[in-house]
Amino acid sequence: MAVFDLDMIQKVYAALPEKVAKVRAKLGRALTVSEKILYTHLWNDTPDTPYTRGKAYVDFAPDRVAMQDATAQMALLQFMMAGKPKVAVPSTVHCDHLIQAKTGADNDLAIAMDVNKEVYDFLSTVSNKYGVGFWKPGAGIIHQIVLENYAFPGGMMIGTDSHTVNAGGLGMVAIGVGGADAVDVMAGMPWELLQPKLIGVELTGEMNGWTSAKDVILKVAGIVSAKGGTGAIVEYFGPGADSISCTGKGTICNMGAEIGATTSIFEYGEAMSRYLRATGRAQVADLADQVTEHLRSDEAVHNNPEAYYDQVIRINLSELEPHINGPYTPDLAWPISAFAKAVKENGYPQKLEVGLIGSCTNSSYEDLDRAASLARQAVAKNLRTKAEFTVTPGSELIRYTVSRDGQLADFEAIGGVVLANACGPCIGQWARHTDDPKRANSIITSFNRNFAKRNDGNPATRSFVASPEIVTAMAIAGDLTFNPLTDTLINENGEAVLLDPPTGVELPPKGFDVEDAGYQSPAADGSGITVTVNPESKRIELLTPFAPWEGTDLTGMKLLIKAKGKCTTDHISMAGPWLRFRGHLDNISNNMLTGAVNFYNELTNTVQNQLTGEFMGVPDTARVYKAAGIGSVVFGEENYGEGSSREHAAMEPRHLGVRAVIVKSFARIHETNLKKQGMLGFTFVNKADYDLVRQDDTIDIVGLTDFRPGKNLTVVLHHADGTQDSFEVAHTYNETQIEWFKAGSALNLIRKQGGLA
Ligand code: SF4
Repeated sequence: MAVFDLDMIQKVYAALPEKVAKVRAKLGRALTVSEKILYTHLWNDTPDTPYTRGKAYVDFAPDRVAMQDATAQMALLQFMMAGKPKVAVPSTVHCDHLIQAKTGADNDLAIAMDVNKEVYDFLSTVSNKYGVGFWKPGAGIIHQIVLENYAFPGGMMIGTDSHTVNAGGLGMVAIGVGGADAVDVMAGMPWELLQPKLIGVELTGEMNGWTSAKDVILKVAGIVSAKGGTGAIVEYFGPGADSISCTGKGTICNMGAEIGATTSIFEYGEAMSRYLRATGRAQVADLADQVTEHLRSDEAVHNNPEAYYDQVIRINLSELEPHINGPYTPDLAWPISAFAKAVKENGYPQKLEVGLIGSCTNSSYEDLDRAASLARQAVAKNLRTKAEFTVTPGSELIRYTVSRDGQLADFEAIGGVVLANACGPCIGQWARHTDDPKRANSIITSFNRNFAKRNDGNPATRSFVASPEIVTAMAIAGDLTFNPLTDTLINENGEAVLLDPPTGVELPPKGFDVEDAGYQSPAADGSGITVTVNPESKRIELLTPFAPWEGTDLTGMKLLIKAKGKCTTDHISMAGPWLRFRGHLDNISNNMLTGAVNFYNELTNTVQNQLTGEFMGVPDTARVYKAAGIGSVVFGEENYGEGSSREHAAMEPRHLGVRAVIVKSFARIHETNLKKQGMLGFTFVNKADYDLVRQDDTIDIVGLTDFRPGKNLTVVLHHADGTQDSFEVAHTYNETQIEWFKAGSALNLIRKQGGLA
């Protein structure tokens, strides 16, 4: 059933004891679980490797890569440019984000296969060729499939999706990244990470009744806030942590993304061992059992957590109430006993219109079994479900098993609609049936995110997040002020009935089963396989290598835009409808910098074309310069390129002929992405020099023939009135990154090193 890589896992465990001992000796103190995993995955452990939390960037060597279908497109298009016959580490692609939920699993899947055919054909063939495991549409959601097949205690993984962190439930350091990072690791390069801080969450007591694992993270989100975990790994420990099922741990780690955490993790224990064995990985469990002490924090950490964590939070599970969080933000946490009052005081629409359970966050056997126990009660107690109710299984393995065991029938008996094993309503892929798509209304989900418009595109939809059990109970009641722990409902006979607390088992008593999990194993030798790209496609386009540096200073370039104020990667490469083109660099480049504000007229997407004097869109102007063989330059202010790490924000300027981006300061990831694409990213030595740049400037960059680490370069501005200004710019390129620039991109350098032109 499972398709894990036993060889790789054996090697990780064989090396673990010695590596942990070395780190412990170097630091001279006890280690937490994530420290053990991080430091045993260093790319290159030199005597001066810094172990400074929150300050130093360090190179790591992850064990594997996972990609969802939306982000995998550009990542694999880029990987193809590296000239490698195969990916350097085990990697997988998961077709989950592009399936729209409308009428139910079968119809919706058939439509998605047709609408997204060009994307799926590309992903399937490119995966087959380069040794990447391919999970077909309908196989399930990336994080559920990773948990069922690939995650292993003590491993390190990166994934091109923010909820990659879900695998922390199986004791893995798993981190969500941009496509450029995935390309690095697949191409055999190191992966850089800011050493995280550590937050410890000690769980005592034991959950009972209506409380579930989801309530732990809903509570933590309320304590820490949506940004409070930024730059930190959250480690859960204590007897309460050990008592939670493996999939429950996954739920908690999954939603760690909602507090901004780099990742979250639980220590290895019996629950993980049980889950590994139930999902066909007894060999991994046996191996992990032999090195358990290295897959948990040292006892000294448990005994005195304040000495090892930057922050310690304590939660007694015996006292934890079920929570409902929202609307609009996942950290607005309401204990269920306070929620009815909050609904009334804040004027949230009291009528609940839809309850949605499942998703990558909450579709374990335990989740669905407990929720189904409520569905059975509703039938037995003659209750009619008042709200619409949908179920999104996280994988075909889960769907098949709960279909066999009857839980899906229980949901259907209360009017539940089973959607495809895919993201669907969680990511806005939801053709919701509604009389008015702008009406204020309330929905509740067992998903993780609830930002405005996230589910159905309606900014007036109040989306709340809770456990599957609470969502099911609320859907039965159809009323947000209902408290299932204390309130009765009136049934079809006019009687007042109380729902009993949900019950369920952690793992299927008859074992998991599936007929066709939806997995395509890659070819052993992919050299003869042709990657399928429809030449008519508007969504997929093969890349061609960027040109190498011409070996001279860059002169005679034109100002493209002097961006004013905030310029995030969203301003540089907008999302929304453009995401459709994320596998087609030329098409998506038509959004380049269209959100940036032009300093000279305070307008977006309106800059002067210096060749004609007319005002045009930014991408159009860049295309004019490119066609004329003239390079262009972008100027910006502070923290340029902050936000999502999407690589398109660096690839588009490169594609449209921008040679340099010169700003007051960079967001680090974007700066690195520019370097990877062979661009020049500089900062003003004197920030006031930003004011010298004029709308009609022609620009030279001088000093490139002696481009070296730590040495400033000179920018010369030739103004239209014949005068000129010049100033120094600084850079952070190291030797390797300068080679990237010279080769035209990091991938060009890899090609070159592999003997390809
Ligand atoms: S189910 Fe939702 S959170 Fe999970 S991977 Fe899909 S879109 Fe992301």
